[in-house]
Amino acid sequence: MGKRKSKRKAPTKAKAVVPLDTQFNCPFCNHERVCEVKMDREKNVGYIACRVCSEDFQTNINYLSEPIDVYSDWVDACEQANNA
Ligand SMILES: [Zn+2]
Repeated sequence: MGKRKSKRKAPTKAKAVVPLDTQFNCPFCNHERVCEVKMDREKNVGYIACRVCSEDFQTNINYLSEPIDVYSDWVDACEQANNA
């Protein structure tokens, strides 16, 4: 009996260069990738706006913030508003 070769699938590695995602699904109109984030690094403010329903939001950012942080702040704010 020959040795069974272990056929290990290499885990699919994330691409080395992932462009920063600045487009997200809208929590209001539920369209995909219609909310665009803009980071104002000088004023430390992040803006996000939906180009379909025109909902927008802004939040404070810092040098570590990424567009996804602005988006998740927005979603958090929406949830808080819904629970109020
Ligand atoms: Zn929208």
